Amino acid sequence: MSTDNETDLKRRSLLGGAGIGLAAAVAGPAFSSDSLTKGGAIPSAAPLVDPGTKYPQPPFQAQKQPWPGLASRMNPRPDHGETSYKGSGRLLGRRALITGGDSGMGRAAAIAYAREGADVAINYYPTEEPDAQEVAKLIRDAGRKAVLIPGDLRDADFCRKLVRDAVQALGGLDILVSNAGRQQQCESILDLTDDAFDQTIKTNIYAPFYIIKEALPHMPKGSSIIATTSEQAYDPSANLYDYAQTKAATMNFVKSLAKQLGPKGVRVNGVAPGPIWTPLQVSGGATMEKLEKFGATTPLGRPGQPAELAGIYVLLADNHGSYANGQIYGAAGGTGQP
Ligand code: NAD
Ligand code: MG
Repeated sequence: MSTDNETDLKRRSLLGGAGIGLAAAVAGPAFSSDSLTKGGAIPSAAPLVDPGTKYPQPPFQAQKQPWPGLASRMNPRPDHGETSYKGSGRLLGRRALITGGDSGMGRAAAIAYAREGADVAINYYPTEEPDAQEVAKLIRDAGRKAVLIPGDLRDADFCRKLVRDAVQALGGLDILVSNAGRQQQCESILDLTDDAFDQTIKTNIYAPFYIIKEALPHMPKGSSIIATTSEQAYDPSANLYDYAQTKAATMNFVKSLAKQLGPKGVRVNGVAPGPIWTPLQVSGGATMEKLEKFGATTPLGRPGQPAELAGIYVLLADNHGSYANGQIYGAAGGTGQP
C-alpha cells in the first residue's frame, strides 16, 4: 500500500518530472491513465492566451476594396479558423446552408460545421468566387460535402431557388445560417439614396424572409435557424442609419420566430458581433478613419476575428444547445449588448 504522497510522486515521475503540474496534466484534453500505461504521447495543456494580444491590434493599414470585397485581399488576412478550429463530431451528418459563407463569420461557421461533421452549402455574390473556392476546399478537406450556390440575394426568386438547390444537393436541411449582410456607411440621411436604402433592406430583411419561408417546410424537428445580427441593433452608429435598423429587425425576428417555431421543434437564435475584421468593413462598411483604428475602443483593444465566433454558431446548431431559443449571443470584446 502506498501513501497519497507516494502515489503523487510516482505519477509525477511518469509524467516526466516536476516540470509538469499534475493538476494541469490531469485537466489536459485527452489525458487518460491509458496513455500512461500504454506509453502513448501525453498531451500538454493548451496554453493560456491573452485575448488582447491574441490577434492583430490597430492601427491597421488603410485599405479599400470594391463591394463586396474579398477576405483573401485583406491585410492582415482575417482568421476564420482555417488552421485552428478542431471539431469533435458535434454536428455529424447535419446539413447546413450558410448565406455569406465565403468570408467573415459565414466562412468561420462553414469551416467549423464541416469539421464538426456537417455537409455545407454556401451562398455568396458571384464576384466572391475566389473566396468561395477556398472555403469549398476547406470543407472537402474536412471530408464533407461542399455545395457552392452563387447568386444575388436582392432577388427574391433567387433566394427561393437557393434553398431548393441546397436542399436537393444536401439531401435535406437542418441548419440554416442567415448571415449575409449589406453595410455601406453613409454620413447623412440626406445623402442616402432611395436605391441604397432599398438595397440594404432587400439584402438584410427581405432575403432572410424569403429564405426562411422556403426552408422551413424542409426542416425537421431539432433543426436550428441562426441569424447574424449586430451590436448595431442595440447601439446604432450615426453613419449606419439604414444598416443598424435592419440589425434591430433581425434581432426582433429571431425572438418572434423563436416563439412561433419553438412549439414545432425548430430553434431560432441570433449572434450579435461587435467590430469584426471582415471584407464588409473594407468594402464600404466603415470610414477609413474608423478602419485604421478598428476595434481600438473595445476593452480588448482590437477587432475580433471571425474564428472567435465559430464556437457560438456551433453551439446554437448543436443539440447540446437545445434550450437556447430566441436568444442573442454577443461577441463584442467587452462593449455592446446583449
Ligand atoms: P463579409 O463581407 O465576410 O460577409 C458578408 C457576406 O454577405 C458577403 O460575403 C456576401 O457573400 C454576402 N452578401 C452581401 N450582399 C449579398 C448579395 N446581394 N447577394 C449575395 N450575397 C451577399 O462580412 P461579415 O462581417 O462576416 O458579415 C457577416 C454578417 O455579420 C453580416 O450580416 C453583417 O451585418 C454581420 N456583422 C458584421 C460585423 C463586423 O464588424 N464585421 C459586426 C456585426 C455584424
Ligand atoms: Mg465575402
